[in-house]
Amino acid sequence: MQTRWNFHTHSTWCDGKNSVEEMADAAYNLGFTALGFSGHAYTPIATDYCMKLEEEELYRQDVLCQKEKYKGLMQIFLGLEIEGIEKRCFPEKQYDYIINSVHYVEAHGIYYPMDESAETLKRCIEEGFGGEVYKLVDKFFQTSAQYACERKPDIIGHFDLLTRYNECGRFFDEQSSKYQNIAIEAIREALKSGGIFEINSGAIARGIKGRVYPAMFLLKEISRLGGRVVISSDAHCTQHLNFAFPLLEELLREAGFRTSMCLTDKGWEERALAIK
Ligand SMILES: [Zn+2]
Ligand SMILES: [Zn+2]
Repeated sequence: MQTRWNFHTHSTWCDGKNSVEEMADAAYNLGFTALGFSGHAYTPIATDYCMKLEEEELYRQDVLCQKEKYKGLMQIFLGLEIEGIEKRCFPEKQYDYIINSVHYVEAHGIYYPMDESAETLKRCIEEGFGGEVYKLVDKFFQTSAQYACERKPDIIGHFDLLTRYNECGRFFDEQSSKYQNIAIEAIREALKSGGIFEINSGAIARGIKGRVYPAMFLLKEISRLGGRVVISSDAHCTQHLNFAFPLLEELLREAGFRTSMCLTDKGWEERALAIK
């Protein structure tokens, strides 16, 4: 079955370009059977890309309004993408699902975003980690695994986000056993949380060629250990709702998967990947 759903969706409530209604209408016109919204939850470590605390209720109402509008036509789910370090608990049933994502790494009290720019990543390595890039790699992956195990989210977001601005191995060698061992150990740990890993096309949609999260060696490890995956676009605008989904399906097959996950009224269910 071709993937006609996406659970990693942003809107103008956070850093998206289109409203909840525009995203829902576009998904319906694409023939989606399900759409999940995952606005960036408020976090005190950053204010520019996430919702304000008081906006979260308005966001929920907005999504629930679309859920009502599309009743019987397309399932709409209310989710949230929360920062890894965030400890806030949410009332049961307030959200249908949670994506736990690490965007920031802390060093000496400063939170450095991994997805802002190559300059920011460079500054983080130099100022935060004294130029020792593998100390950053270590901290990023170790905390990612730790937060996943503490939070036990439904979805573990873009697991190797720190590779975003590492084009051509500019800062560290992604093919090296040093790098891969750190990442593999973390993914084994994170798998214990029971969370679903996403394969995410967000960076390609935003112009970073060839960068799918997570890398093939990590996808293969998830597959080998019986982990589950969900196909995500991390859409910030209507045009990206199903961005590169055939490629993501192909990569999952190559990694050994035969199914991906889909949220339904009865919870997360496996769906067979489309056969070429
Ligand atoms: Zn994210
Ligand atoms: Zn996102």
